[in-house]
Amino acid sequence: MRILVGIKWVPRVDQMKFDPVTKTLVRVGVESVVNPPDLNALEMGLQIRDKVGGEVIAVSMAPPVAKEGLMEAVSMGADRGILLTDRRMAGADTLATSRVLAEAAKKLKADLILVGEETIDSATGQVGPGIAVHLGIPFISYVHKVLEIGDESITVERESERGVEVWRLGLPALLTVVLGANKPRRPTIRGKIRAKRAIDFWSLDDLGIDPECVGFPGSPTRVVDMVVVEPPKRRGEIFQGEAAEAAKWLADKILEVLKGGL
Ligand SMILES: Cc1cc2nc3c(=O)[nH]c(=O)nc-3n(C[C@H](O)[C@H](O)[C@H](O)COP(=O)(O)OP(=O)(O)OC[C@H]3O[C@@H](n4cnc5c(N)ncnc54)[C@H](O)[C@@H]3O)c2cc1C
Repeated sequence: MRILVGIKWVPRVDQMKFDPVTKTLVRVGVESVVNPPDLNALEMGLQIRDKVGGEVIAVSMAPPVAKEGLMEAVSMGADRGILLTDRRMAGADTLATSRVLAEAAKKLKADLILVGEETIDSATGQVGPGIAVHLGIPFISYVHKVLEIGDESITVERESERGVEVWRLGLPALLTVVLGANKPRRPTIRGKIRAKRAIDFWSLDDLGIDPECVGFPGSPTRVVDMVVVEPPKRRGEIFQGEAAEAAKWLADKILEVLKGGL
Protein backbone atom coordinates (compact mmCIF):
# COMPACT_ATOMS: atom_id res chain seq x y z
CA MET A 1 0.00 0.00 0.00
CA ARG A 2 1.51 3.34 -1.03
CA ILE A 3 0.13 6.15 1.12
CA LEU A 4 0.71 9.82 0.34
CA VAL A 5 0.25 12.42 3.06
CA GLY A 6 -0.07 16.12 2.20
CA ILE A 7 2.01 18.20 4.61
CA LYS A 8 1.70 21.99 4.56
CA TRP A 9 4.34 24.08 6.35
CA VAL A 10 2.29 26.98 7.72
CA PRO A 11 3.13 30.19 9.59
CA ARG A 12 1.92 30.31 13.20
CA VAL A 13 -1.22 32.42 12.88
CA ASP A 14 -1.03 33.55 16.51
CA GLN A 15 2.24 35.34 15.63
CA MET A 16 1.05 36.85 12.34
CA LYS A 17 0.12 40.51 11.96
CA PHE A 18 -1.96 42.27 9.35
CA ASP A 19 -0.63 45.31 7.51
CA PRO A 20 -3.69 47.58 7.11
CA VAL A 21 -1.93 49.71 4.47
CA THR A 22 -0.82 46.98 2.05
CA LYS A 23 -3.70 44.70 3.17
CA THR A 24 -1.37 41.73 3.35
CA LEU A 25 -0.28 39.37 6.12
CA VAL A 26 3.12 40.14 7.61
CA ARG A 27 4.97 36.82 7.68
CA VAL A 28 8.48 38.14 8.37
CA GLY A 29 9.92 36.75 11.60
CA VAL A 30 6.99 34.36 12.09
CA GLU A 31 7.76 30.75 13.04
CA SER A 32 6.32 27.93 10.94
CA VAL A 33 4.89 24.56 11.94
CA VAL A 34 3.34 21.54 10.25
CA ASN A 35 -0.36 22.30 9.77
CA PRO A 36 -1.93 20.56 12.84
CA PRO A 37 -4.49 18.22 11.17
CA ASP A 38 -1.78 17.09 8.73
CA LEU A 39 -0.15 15.40 11.74
CA ASN A 40 -3.42 13.50 12.31
CA ALA A 41 -3.45 12.51 8.61
CA LEU A 42 0.15 11.36 8.96
CA GLU A 43 -0.61 9.32 12.08
CA MET A 44 -3.55 7.68 10.27
CA GLY A 45 -1.24 6.79 7.38
CA LEU A 46 1.42 5.39 9.70
CA GLN A 47 -1.14 3.21 11.51
CA ILE A 48 -2.41 1.81 8.18
CA ARG A 49 1.16 1.09 7.01
CA ASP A 50 2.03 -0.56 10.32
CA LYS A 51 -1.02 -2.83 9.90
CA VAL A 52 -0.96 -3.75 6.21
CA GLY A 53 2.59 -2.87 5.11
CA GLY A 54 3.75 -0.52 2.37
CA GLU A 55 5.16 2.96 2.62
CA VAL A 56 4.14 6.44 3.72
CA ILE A 57 5.39 9.37 1.65
CA ALA A 58 5.02 12.92 2.96
CA VAL A 59 4.56 15.43 0.13
CA SER A 60 4.58 19.20 0.17
CA MET A 61 4.34 21.86 -2.53
CA ALA A 62 6.23 24.80 -1.15
CA PRO A 63 9.45 26.84 -1.19
CA PRO A 64 12.67 25.01 -0.10
CA VAL A 65 12.27 26.08 3.55
CA ALA A 66 9.33 23.64 3.90
CA LYS A 67 11.88 20.78 3.85
CA GLU A 68 11.79 21.18 7.64
CA GLY A 69 8.14 20.09 7.78
CA LEU A 70 8.85 17.01 5.69
CA MET A 71 11.81 16.17 7.92
CA GLU A 72 9.47 16.33 10.91
CA ALA A 73 7.13 13.89 9.13
CA VAL A 74 10.01 11.48 8.46
CA SER A 75 11.26 11.79 12.03
CA MET A 76 7.77 10.72 13.15
CA GLY A 77 7.87 7.63 10.94
CA ALA A 78 7.14 8.52 7.28
CA ASP A 79 9.40 6.50 4.97
CA ARG A 80 10.41 9.52 2.89
CA GLY A 81 9.45 13.03 1.89
CA ILE A 82 9.15 14.78 -1.46
CA LEU A 83 9.25 18.56 -1.76
CA LEU A 84 7.60 19.83 -4.93
CA THR A 85 9.41 23.08 -5.36
CA ASP A 86 9.94 25.39 -8.30
CA ARG A 87 9.78 29.17 -8.67
CA ARG A 88 7.14 28.69 -11.37
CA MET A 89 4.78 27.23 -8.73
CA ALA A 90 4.64 30.58 -6.85
CA GLY A 91 1.33 32.45 -6.70
CA ALA A 92 -0.69 29.21 -6.82
CA ASP A 93 -4.33 29.22 -5.69
CA THR A 94 -6.02 26.02 -4.51
CA LEU A 95 -6.72 24.85 -8.09
CA ALA A 96 -3.06 25.06 -9.12
CA THR A 97 -1.86 23.63 -5.78
CA SER A 98 -4.13 20.60 -6.06
CA ARG A 99 -3.12 20.10 -9.70
CA VAL A 100 0.58 19.84 -8.75
CA LEU A 101 -0.13 17.50 -5.82
CA ALA A 102 -2.35 15.33 -8.06
CA GLU A 103 0.46 14.98 -10.63
CA ALA A 104 2.83 13.87 -7.86
CA ALA A 105 0.26 11.29 -6.65
CA LYS A 106 -0.13 10.02 -10.23
CA LYS A 107 3.63 9.70 -10.70
CA LEU A 108 3.96 7.84 -7.39
CA LYS A 109 0.97 5.56 -8.17
CA ALA A 110 -0.54 6.29 -4.74
CA ASP A 111 -3.20 3.88 -3.43
CA LEU A 112 -4.36 6.23 -0.70
CA ILE A 113 -3.97 10.00 -0.28
CA LEU A 114 -4.47 11.59 3.14
CA VAL A 115 -4.65 15.33 3.80
CA GLY A 116 -5.74 17.50 6.72
CA GLU A 117 -9.32 18.84 6.89
CA GLU A 118 -8.04 22.40 6.32
CA THR A 119 -5.07 24.64 7.00
CA ILE A 120 -4.69 27.19 9.76
CA ASP A 121 -3.44 29.91 7.38
CA SER A 122 -5.86 29.79 4.43
CA ALA A 123 -8.43 27.25 5.64
CA THR A 124 -10.30 26.65 2.39
CA GLY A 125 -10.42 22.85 2.70
CA GLN A 126 -10.35 22.76 -1.11
CA VAL A 127 -6.98 21.18 -1.81
CA GLY A 128 -7.91 17.57 -0.88
CA PRO A 129 -11.13 17.45 -2.92
CA GLY A 130 -9.26 19.27 -5.73
CA ILE A 131 -6.59 16.53 -5.86
CA ALA A 132 -9.29 13.83 -6.01
CA VAL A 133 -11.15 15.61 -8.82
CA HIS A 134 -7.94 16.05 -10.86
CA LEU A 135 -7.25 12.32 -10.46
CA GLY A 136 -10.87 11.22 -10.96
CA ILE A 137 -10.84 9.17 -7.72
CA PRO A 138 -13.39 9.03 -4.83
CA PHE A 139 -12.90 11.12 -1.71
CA ILE A 140 -14.48 11.60 1.72
CA SER A 141 -13.98 14.63 3.95
CA TYR A 142 -13.86 14.94 7.78
CA VAL A 143 -12.77 11.35 8.41
CA HIS A 144 -11.89 10.53 12.00
CA LYS A 145 -11.48 6.77 11.92
CA VAL A 146 -10.50 3.96 9.54
CA LEU A 147 -12.62 0.87 10.23
CA GLU A 148 -11.23 -1.52 7.63
CA ILE A 149 -8.68 -1.52 4.84
CA GLY A 150 -8.10 -4.11 2.13
CA ASP A 151 -6.34 -4.23 -1.24
CA GLU A 152 -9.35 -2.84 -3.07
CA SER A 153 -11.30 -0.71 -0.59
CA ILE A 154 -11.25 1.30 2.61
CA THR A 155 -14.10 1.75 5.12
CA VAL A 156 -14.11 4.92 7.22
CA GLU A 157 -16.16 6.87 9.71
CA ARG A 158 -16.85 10.53 9.02
CA GLU A 159 -18.30 13.26 11.18
CA SER A 160 -21.29 15.17 9.87
CA GLU A 161 -23.98 17.51 11.19
CA ARG A 162 -26.32 14.50 11.37
CA GLY A 163 -23.95 12.31 13.37
CA VAL A 164 -21.45 9.69 12.28
CA GLU A 165 -21.54 8.22 8.77
CA VAL A 166 -19.80 5.04 7.59
CA TRP A 167 -18.49 4.97 4.02
CA ARG A 168 -16.67 2.39 1.90
CA LEU A 169 -14.53 3.69 -0.96
CA GLY A 170 -12.76 1.81 -3.75
CA LEU A 171 -9.00 2.41 -3.90
CA PRO A 172 -7.26 4.59 -4.92
CA ALA A 173 -9.07 7.17 -2.81
CA LEU A 174 -8.49 10.38 -0.88
CA LEU A 175 -9.49 11.17 2.70
CA THR A 176 -9.43 14.50 4.49
CA VAL A 177 -8.71 13.90 8.17
CA VAL A 178 -10.10 15.95 11.06
CA LEU A 179 -7.99 17.61 13.71
CA GLY A 180 -7.84 15.38 16.80
CA ALA A 181 -8.70 12.18 14.90
CA ASN A 182 -5.87 10.45 16.77
CA LYS A 183 -2.80 11.22 18.87
CA PRO A 184 0.14 11.83 16.54
CA ARG A 185 3.26 9.95 17.63
CA ARG A 186 6.34 11.88 18.67
CA PRO A 187 9.47 12.18 16.52
CA THR A 188 12.29 9.79 17.45
CA ILE A 189 16.04 10.47 17.49
CA ARG A 190 16.53 7.67 14.94
CA GLY A 191 13.87 9.26 12.74
CA LYS A 192 15.53 12.65 13.01
CA ILE A 193 18.86 11.21 11.84
CA ARG A 194 17.16 9.38 8.94
CA ALA A 195 15.21 12.51 7.96
CA LYS A 196 18.40 14.32 6.91
CA ARG A 197 18.73 12.05 3.87
CA ALA A 198 15.13 11.13 3.22
CA ILE A 199 13.85 14.22 1.37
CA ASP A 200 13.82 14.46 -2.44
CA PHE A 201 13.14 17.62 -4.45
CA TRP A 202 10.97 17.54 -7.56
CA SER A 203 10.58 20.42 -10.00
CA LEU A 204 7.89 21.07 -12.61
CA ASP A 205 10.09 19.30 -15.15
CA ASP A 206 10.23 16.18 -12.96
CA LEU A 207 6.43 16.22 -12.85
CA GLY A 208 6.09 16.99 -16.55
CA ILE A 209 3.50 19.75 -15.98
CA ASP A 210 2.94 22.62 -18.40
CA PRO A 211 4.09 25.82 -16.56
CA GLU A 212 0.97 27.61 -17.84
CA CYS A 213 -1.20 25.28 -15.68
CA VAL A 214 0.52 26.04 -12.36
CA GLY A 215 1.58 29.01 -10.23
CA PHE A 216 0.14 32.40 -11.08
CA PRO A 217 -0.79 31.67 -14.74
CA GLY A 218 -2.70 28.52 -13.69
CA SER A 219 -4.59 30.25 -10.86
CA PRO A 220 -7.93 31.83 -11.79
CA THR A 221 -8.58 33.18 -8.24
CA ARG A 222 -8.00 36.93 -7.83
CA VAL A 223 -8.00 38.77 -4.50
CA VAL A 224 -9.84 41.94 -5.54
CA ASP A 225 -10.25 43.57 -2.14
CA MET A 226 -9.77 43.00 1.54
CA VAL A 227 -11.76 44.61 4.35
CA VAL A 228 -10.52 44.84 7.93
CA VAL A 229 -13.40 44.02 10.28
CA GLU A 230 -13.01 45.42 13.80
CA PRO A 231 -14.52 43.21 16.51
CA PRO A 232 -17.48 44.89 18.28
CA LYS A 233 -16.63 46.60 21.57
CA ARG A 234 -17.91 44.65 24.59
CA ARG A 235 -19.88 46.35 27.37
CA GLY A 236 -19.33 44.72 30.73
CA GLU A 237 -21.57 45.10 33.77
CA ILE A 238 -21.11 43.44 37.13
CA PHE A 239 -24.10 42.93 39.44
CA GLN A 240 -23.46 42.93 43.18
CA GLY A 241 -26.16 41.38 45.39
CA GLU A 242 -28.12 38.29 46.36
CA ALA A 243 -28.52 35.33 44.00
CA ALA A 244 -32.29 35.74 43.56
CA GLU A 245 -31.91 39.44 42.75
CA ALA A 246 -29.04 38.64 40.41
CA ALA A 247 -31.16 36.07 38.53
CA LYS A 248 -33.98 38.60 38.07
CA TRP A 249 -31.52 41.31 37.00
CA LEU A 250 -29.97 38.92 34.44
CA ALA A 251 -33.36 37.75 33.11
CA ASP A 252 -34.46 41.40 32.64
CA LYS A 253 -31.22 42.15 30.78
CA ILE A 254 -31.74 39.17 28.45
CA LEU A 255 -35.36 40.24 27.77
CA GLU A 256 -34.18 43.78 27.05
CA VAL A 257 -31.66 42.50 24.49
CA LEU A 258 -34.21 40.15 22.90
CA LYS A 259 -36.80 42.93 22.59
CA GLY A 260 -34.22 45.30 21.09
CA GLY A 261 -32.96 42.68 18.66
CA LEU A 262 -29.40 41.41 18.59
C1 LIG B 1 -4.41 34.39 -5.91
C2 LIG B 1 -3.69 33.58 -4.88
C3 LIG B 1 -2.30 33.56 -4.87
C4 LIG B 1 -1.61 32.82 -3.89
N1 LIG B 1 -0.26 32.83 -3.89
C5 LIG B 1 0.41 32.11 -2.97
C6 LIG B 1 1.84 32.09 -2.95
O1 LIG B 1 2.51 32.73 -3.75
N2 LIG B 1 2.45 31.33 -1.97
C7 LIG B 1 1.72 30.63 -1.06
O2 LIG B 1 2.31 29.97 -0.19
N3 LIG B 1 0.38 30.61 -1.08
C8 LIG B 1 -0.29 31.34 -2.00
N4 LIG B 1 -1.64 31.33 -2.00
C9 LIG B 1 -2.33 30.49 -1.04
C10 LIG B 1 -2.41 29.08 -1.60
O3 LIG B 1 -3.25 29.03 -2.71
C11 LIG B 1 -2.97 28.17 -0.56
O4 LIG B 1 -2.16 28.27 0.58
C12 LIG B 1 -2.93 26.71 -1.00
O5 LIG B 1 -3.63 26.53 -2.20
C13 LIG B 1 -3.53 25.81 0.03
O6 LIG B 1 -4.84 26.23 0.33
P1 LIG B 1 -5.35 26.07 1.80
O7 LIG B 1 -4.25 26.55 2.70
O8 LIG B 1 -6.68 26.68 1.90
O9 LIG B 1 -5.41 24.50 1.95
P2 LIG B 1 -6.62 23.50 2.44
O10 LIG B 1 -7.43 23.16 1.27
O11 LIG B 1 -7.30 24.14 3.62
O12 LIG B 1 -5.70 22.33 2.87
C14 LIG B 1 -6.21 21.05 3.19
C15 LIG B 1 -5.08 20.07 3.28
O13 LIG B 1 -4.47 19.92 2.01
C16 LIG B 1 -3.07 19.68 2.16
N5 LIG B 1 -2.33 20.77 1.54
C17 LIG B 1 -2.74 22.04 1.31
N6 LIG B 1 -1.77 22.74 0.70
C18 LIG B 1 -0.71 21.89 0.56
C19 LIG B 1 0.58 22.01 0.03
N7 LIG B 1 1.02 23.16 -0.50
N8 LIG B 1 1.40 20.94 0.05
C20 LIG B 1 0.97 19.76 0.58
N9 LIG B 1 -0.24 19.58 1.10
C21 LIG B 1 -1.08 20.63 1.08
C22 LIG B 1 -2.79 19.65 3.67
O14 LIG B 1 -2.85 18.31 4.12
C23 LIG B 1 -3.95 20.46 4.22
O15 LIG B 1 -4.28 20.14 5.56
C24 LIG B 1 -2.35 32.08 -2.94
C25 LIG B 1 -3.75 32.09 -2.98
C26 LIG B 1 -4.41 32.82 -3.93
C27 LIG B 1 -5.91 32.82 -3.93
